[in-house]
Amino acid sequence: AASDTCSDHSYRSYTPSTSTLPFCRFNMGRLEGKNAIVTGAAGGIGLETSILFAREGANVLLSDISEPALERALAKVHEVVPDAKVKIETRKCDVSKESDIEAMVAHVDSWGGLDIIFNNAGIMHADDDDAVNTPEKIWDLTQAINVKGVWFGSKHAVLSFRKHGKTKASVINTASVVGLVGSATPQLAYTASKGAVLALTRELAMVHAREGFRFNSLCPAPLNTPLLQDWLGDDVEKRHRREVHFPSGRFGEAIEQAQAVLFLASDESSFVNGSDFVVDGGMTKCYTTPTGPPTAAPR
Ligand code: NAD
Repeated sequence: AASDTCSDHSYRSYTPSTSTLPFCRFNMGRLEGKNAIVTGAAGGIGLETSILFAREGANVLLSDISEPALERALAKVHEVVPDAKVKIETRKCDVSKESDIEAMVAHVDSWGGLDIIFNNAGIMHADDDDAVNTPEKIWDLTQAINVKGVWFGSKHAVLSFRKHGKTKASVINTASVVGLVGSATPQLAYTASKGAVLALTRELAMVHAREGFRFNSLCPAPLNTPLLQDWLGDDVEKRHRREVHFPSGRFGEAIEQAQAVLFLASDESSFVNGSDFVVDGGMTKCYTTPTGPPTAAPR
C-alpha cells in the first residue's frame, strides 16, 4: 500500500541536466544580491532551479522534507556550481507546517531579508483517484502540502518583504497544467489542489501589486522527474501513449521549467504578475483526435 506521507518518495535521486545544456552556460548575474528560498529543492524542478539561482548570483536556501535528499541535492549544486560565491544552505522544512515555514523564512531574514520564494514542494499520491475512490486522508494530505504549503510560504514571504522594506520581490508557486485543463487520468485531489494554487496566486498578485510584490504560477506539463516516474512506473508503453499526445512528442525536462522560474524570479519579468505561466511544449493548445494529435509523426 502506498504510504500516506511523502518520505519514501523524497528519497529518490534526481540528476540535474544543467551542466549539459548549452543555454545554461552563462552566469549573467541575473539574481545578483538576492536572497531566495526554494521548497521541494531536492526534487526535479526544485533542484534545477536552485542550481540556476546560485549560478545567477542569488544566495539560496534549499529546503525539503527529506534531509538525506537535501544532502544529495546540496552536493549536486556544489558539483555543478563549484565556484559559487554565494551562500548555498539547506534546511529541512515540511511546507504543511506553518512553524517550519516561519523558521525557514526567519533564517533567510538573517541574511538581510527575502527577495524570492519558489513555493514548489508538492505531491501526487499514488492513491489519488476519482470522486468515488479518492480516500479522504489523501485529499487532506494533498491539500495540506500543495495548497496550504503555498499559502504559508506566501504569507511569511509577505511578512518578510514588508519587514525589510522590499519593494521588488517575487513569489513563484508551482501549479500544473491540470489546474487549467481537465485530465482524463483520475487524480481528483491533485487536480483540485493545482486549481487552488492558480486562484490563490492570482488573488495574492492583485492584493499585493501596489507593494511591488509579484506572484506568478508556474504550470508545467508532465516532466521527466521522480514524481512522474512514480506515476508511470517502468511501463514504456504507458509512457509512450502519454508522450505521443505532446506536440513535441516528448515530456518536458525540469531544467526547462527552471529557466521559466529564473525569469519570473528576476527583475526581467517586472511587469509579469498574476500569470498562469504555462511551460508545456504546447500541450494545452493541442487538439487531440482519436487517431492522435495533429502534430503526430509525418506520414
Ligand atoms: P519531485 O517529486 O522530484 O519533487 C518534489 C519535492 O517535494 C521532493 O523533493 C519532495 O521530497 C518534496 N516534498 C514533498 N512533500 C513535501 C513537504 N510536505 N514539504 C517539503 N517538501 C516536500 O517532483 P517535481 O516534478 O520536481 O515536482 C515539483 C512540483 O512540480 C510539484 O509541486 C509538482 O506537483 C509540480 N508538477 C510536476 C509535474 C511533473 O510531471 N513532474 C507536472 C506539473 C507540476
